[in-house]
Amino acid sequence: MRIGFIGLGNMGNPMVRNLLKHGHTLKVFDIVPALVKPLADLGCETATSAGKCAQEVDVVITMLPSSPHVRRVYQEAHGVLASAAPNTLLIDSSTIDPHTSRDVAMDAMGKGLAMIDAPVSGGTGGAEAGTLTFMVGGTAENFARAKPVLEGMGKNIVHCGDAGNGQVAKICNNMMLAIEMIATAEGMALATKLGMDANVFASIANTSSGRCWSSDTYNPFPGVVPAAPANRGYSGGFGSDLMLKDLTLVTEAAKAAKQPVMLGAAAQQLYQMHSTMGNGALDFSSIIKLYKKD
Ligand code: NAD
Repeated sequence: MRIGFIGLGNMGNPMVRNLLKHGHTLKVFDIVPALVKPLADLGCETATSAGKCAQEVDVVITMLPSSPHVRRVYQEAHGVLASAAPNTLLIDSSTIDPHTSRDVAMDAMGKGLAMIDAPVSGGTGGAEAGTLTFMVGGTAENFARAKPVLEGMGKNIVHCGDAGNGQVAKICNNMMLAIEMIATAEGMALATKLGMDANVFASIANTSSGRCWSSDTYNPFPGVVPAAPANRGYSGGFGSDLMLKDLTLVTEAAKAAKQPVMLGAAAQQLYQMHSTMGNGALDFSSIIKLYKKD
């Protein structure tokens, strides 16, 4: 396949490398030239704008920071929608709000283009290993067209329903994850404050009803799960600011839908406070710092 790839940051760069390994022909673009050069050295063609990156390719993939970037790249005067040939498949893998996703997809459809939203989970580690999970929103036909391309970057490719539903799956799952992480942090901090050994308490929780992924696989308390970011100063992993971004998207989507998310809103506020205290770059399990001294 000839693939145009726009957005060559922490996720986009390793995704492009995996697509190259799978034999695709890549044309790449980013507004930061320094990010383009290493991929050009690997044999990617380079484009001078998003619109030009979308020309003479079968598929366009975007991996951009947030909704305004996606609107700009797709909807600006000489952007992707104005430049791609009819029937080009457009895949937006950025995490953005479902409303923007649906709006851009409708616009694409009106121009005879096929579009899906395909946000990911698995982080930079999954992007490098080619084991990302793609949550896909769009028609069954477009999902079938996209699947072989996404398989070059990921392991689990899941059709979540119509346009925007990939984003819905991504942000609702991450809201649950944030809430369970905060619950684990509170439980671990309180149990140890009341005199229990952290490992003994975790072993009880993990074999009873308190068990969850944050507790048995990614415990925020140092010394409980050896491979967890808690044991390397909360470095690596999934940044607190990225979690805050997803929680802000999910609470805004809930507000627009007039759907209560009491714990989600509290989680958004806790991560916002955590970020303003200078912890935004730390893994999201560092939220336990709100509950205990180091
Ligand atoms: P990043 O900021 O490292 O990369 C985004 C890239 O987009 C940057 O290189 C930037 O220069 C480029 N860009 C911005 N505007 C552009 C434009 N108009 N034209 C071309 N390029 C433009 O971000 P990232 O960590 O790679 O994340 C990308 C997306 O993936 C985000 O939506 C994020 O929420 C999501 N995501 C990230 C992770 C993670 O662990 N980093 C995990 C899951 C999902």
